Amino acid sequence: MVVVGFGGAGAATAITAHDLGAKVLLLEKAPEGEEGGNTRVAAQGYLNVSDVDKAIAYLDAMCGPFKVPPEMVRVWAQEVSRNNDWIASIGGDPQEHQFPPAGIEFPQFPGSDCVHKFHHGDILGYSNTWKFLERAVKQRPIDVLYEAPGRELIQDGVTREILGIRAEQRGKSICVKARKAVVLTCGGFENNQEMIRNYLPGIPYCYTSGTPYNEGDGVKMGQSVGADLWHMNNYAGPSMALKAPEYKTTFSMTPLHFGHEQQGGMIVVGPDANRFTNEKLRTLHGKIKKNGRWGPPPVPCPMFMVFDHALFSCGPLYDKKPVMGWGRIVERYDWSDDNTAELERGWIKQAGTVAALARAMGLDPLALEESVKRWNSSCDSGKDQEFGRSKMLVPFTQPPFYAIELSPSMLNTQGGPRRNEKGQIVRPDNTPIPRLYSSGELGSIYSYLYQGTGNIGECLAFGRISARNAVAESAWDE
Ligand SMILES: Cc1cc2nc3c(=O)[nH]c(=O)nc-3n(C[C@H](O)[C@H](O)[C@H](O)COP(=O)(O)OP(=O)(O)OC[C@H]3O[C@@H](n4cnc5c(N)ncnc54)[C@H](O)[C@@H]3O)c2cc1C
Repeated sequence: MVVVGFGGAGAATAITAHDLGAKVLLLEKAPEGEEGGNTRVAAQGYLNVSDVDKAIAYLDAMCGPFKVPPEMVRVWAQEVSRNNDWIASIGGDPQEHQFPPAGIEFPQFPGSDCVHKFHHGDILGYSNTWKFLERAVKQRPIDVLYEAPGRELIQDGVTREILGIRAEQRGKSICVKARKAVVLTCGGFENNQEMIRNYLPGIPYCYTSGTPYNEGDGVKMGQSVGADLWHMNNYAGPSMALKAPEYKTTFSMTPLHFGHEQQGGMIVVGPDANRFTNEKLRTLHGKIKKNGRWGPPPVPCPMFMVFDHALFSCGPLYDKKPVMGWGRIVERYDWSDDNTAELERGWIKQAGTVAALARAMGLDPLALEESVKRWNSSCDSGKDQEFGRSKMLVPFTQPPFYAIELSPSMLNTQGGPRRNEKGQIVRPDNTPIPRLYSSGELGSIYSYLYQGTGNIGECLAFGRISARNAVAESAWDE
C-alpha cells in the first residue's frame, strides 16, 4: 500500500495498515527533517469526543447550511470517540488539555459538552503528539522515501482502478506499484496561490503559518482521475500576519494577539488608510458572527499595522518560543529583542511623521492622519467609537511612527477530493474511484465551522478508517 504524505494522517494510516499486516511505503515531499506537515507544527491537540450521539449533533450544528451526509457524520463521531484508545494502544500517553471548557468553540450548540481535547505527553505544543506518531512509524518496518513528491496517479484505462503512483525522487521520475491501494494524505493547498485565489472566499492571496510543502498536489492528483471536490471554500483563517519575502511562512505579530500586554498606539488600516476592524478581535478559527451567520472577518489587503515608538520600544513584536508554527519550530528566525534588526531588513518601516509614514507605504497621507486622530480621540473618550475595541486603548504619542505590511494568513485549508464513510475518494456521481483513499485535511469533513483539535482528531480517525478498508482490498495482481 502506498501512503502519500508523512503528516498526522499519513502516520495514522501507515501505522494502522502495517499493524493489520500490510506492507506500507510512505512517500514524503519534504526532505528528512522537514517532514510532518502541519501536524508537526500544530498546537498538538486532537479531539476525542465522549459521546457519539452528542458529537453527531455538534458536528451537524457546525456544518450549518453546508450539510454533510449523515453517514459521514456518524462514522466520524464513532471513530473520533476512539482516538484516545488507539493512541494508548500504540504506546501513547493521552492527556486532556488543562482547561477543557475553554476549548469548546461553540458551547451554544447541541452536544457541545462531548468535546474533549487531548495531546500526547505532559506539555501542549512543541511537536509532542507529532514526535510520538513519527516514532511509532519508525519503530515499524515502514519504508519512508523523503524528497519524493507524488505527482500522478496511475489508473487502469478500463477498470479505472488506481494501480500505483508516479512520484519524483530527487528529481528523477519513479513509478510505484500499489498492490492494494493508494491513500492520499498530502494535506491541503495552503501554498498554492492559484487555488487560494480561485477557491477561498474573497481573498486574492494568503499565506500560512504551517508547512510550506502543502501545495494542493492531492487536489490535482484527485481531479486528474475523476474525483469530485468538496469544502474547497473552507479554511482555518484568515488572520493578519507579516509575510517577509525571505521566509516561506508568516510571522504573527504579538500586539494583535488577544490579551497581549504590550502597550502603545496601534491601529491596522486597509489600502484606503482607514481602520476596518477591532484589531484585537478574537475569531473562532477565522470565523466571526455577523447578521446571524458565521463568516471570515474582513481582510482588505494589503493591510498595515501602524504604531508609535512607545509600542516599538516595548520589546519584540514577535514571540519566537517554539510552541507551534513552522516559523517558530522549523525555520527558527531569531527576531531581535528591540526590533531593530527587522527595521534594518525593511520589514518594519519608520518615519518621523504619520504623513511621511503613509507616503513610504503608498497610502494617502491625509487619510492616515485622520485615522490616527480618530483613534486618539476614541482613546481620550475611553471608547472605540468605530469598532468597539476594548483592549490596548492607547493613543499614539511618541514619534517616530512605524508600519508593518500585513497579509491574510491561515493555519490550513479543509477542501479537497470528496471522500465517503469508508475513506474512499468518490466521483461526482458518488461512486468510489477503486483503490483510492484519503485522510486528513485533504478533503476534510469540516464544511463551515471548525472545532479546534478537530483536524488532527480527523487525521487519526480517518487514517484508521481508510487504512482498514484499503487493507481489506484484495491485491490487484494476484
Ligand atoms: C500553527 C498551527 C496550529 C494548529 N493546531 C492544531 C491543533 O492543535 N489541533 C488540530 O487538530 N489541528 C491543528 N492545526 C491544523 C492541523 O495541524 C492540520 O490540519 C493537520 O495536522 C493536517 O494533517 P495532515 O496529515 O492531513 O497534513 P499535514 O500534517 O500537513 O501532512 C501532509 C504531508 O504531506 C506532504 N506532502 C505534500 N504534498 C505531497 C506530495 N505531492 N507527495 C508526498 N508528500 C506530500 C507534506 O510535506 C506533509 O508532510 C494547526 C495548524 C497550524 C498551522
